[in-house]
Amino acid sequence: MQQISEILLFNDNAKKMLGALLANGRVPHAVLLEGPEKCGKTVCAKQVAARILCEGENRPCGSCISCKKAAQNSHPDIITVEKEAGKQQFSVELVRTMRDDAYIMPNESRYKVFIVRNAHEMNANAQNALLKILEEPPQHCVFILTAVSRTRLLPTIMSRVVTVGLSHPSPQECLEVLPQLVPNKSQDDYLRAAQISAGSLEMAVQMLEDGQRLEAWSRAQEIVETAVMKSEYELLTLFTALEKDREFMLEVLADVKQVLAWLLLCKKGCSVSDKKYAELAAKITALQVVKFVDIIEWAQSLARQNVSASVVLSSVCAKLKNAAQIS
Ligand SMILES: [Zn+2]
Repeated sequence: MQQISEILLFNDNAKKMLGALLANGRVPHAVLLEGPEKCGKTVCAKQVAARILCEGENRPCGSCISCKKAAQNSHPDIITVEKEAGKQQFSVELVRTMRDDAYIMPNESRYKVFIVRNAHEMNANAQNALLKILEEPPQHCVFILTAVSRTRLLPTIMSRVVTVGLSHPSPQECLEVLPQLVPNKSQDDYLRAAQISAGSLEMAVQMLEDGQRLEAWSRAQEIVETAVMKSEYELLTLFTALEKDREFMLEVLADVKQVLAWLLLCKKGCSVSDKKYAELAAKITALQVVKFVDIIEWAQSLARQNVSASVVLSSVCAKLKNAAQIS
């Protein structure tokens, strides 16, 4: 992500509100970005953080050291706090560690910005600890909270933040903005990312930054195409290539389901599509797509039970070809 730009905020009201909050170098102490999962709240929070810390004139300028570090996720004064992977809840210890850190002066900027992701995952204890910080925030601190719904936060927290609502961009808007967020990718890659993420900006950006995700998606597309239009032997060849790496195989299987979901959308005339999908969608019935999904889910459950990958993949291959022939 090189250039962080205001274009991210599709919601006009959110854009105006954040613009006003940050006008003339003003810095709010606590903002809540509220919106559905993966609508771009974190991307937006990072943009706001970059704007607050920017040392240029037209903020965020995108070219000062601070903006560059922010874009590379390496700014020491932008700190992301979130629930640890695998944990049920956002623990109170994490909030206390953040509080201790908040009292230490910024490393190199005038402010320290804490991005508190998915604050709604905090239990009451953690929220109370957060409240204590928000009640008397150190002057040099800014807290940007994200949450799927304000109703899951304590009213006392809500009274201390300015809430800005965000919504999902359409897949078309997503496609338009991706080249600015993650430059130097092919149009094909942007299209794939917009397709797989179905309007989730955050997911699309992650995909473009992670080559393996695009690779998995591209394999998944190939599998569906081959299952519909080519021979069982060709399909088996594609599957055999997945045998060695079980994690990657699971990733590809999950993407096959997404590709199938996309095909269903295409059959209904979705706008962000390409010729290949339209051709493919014409050759398969909606019922067959649903059967394919069932087969893939069956394969996923076997693969998770550690059944040998070659056994899973060869039977899935036969089942898919069978389903493709019976209409
Ligand atoms: Zn800057």
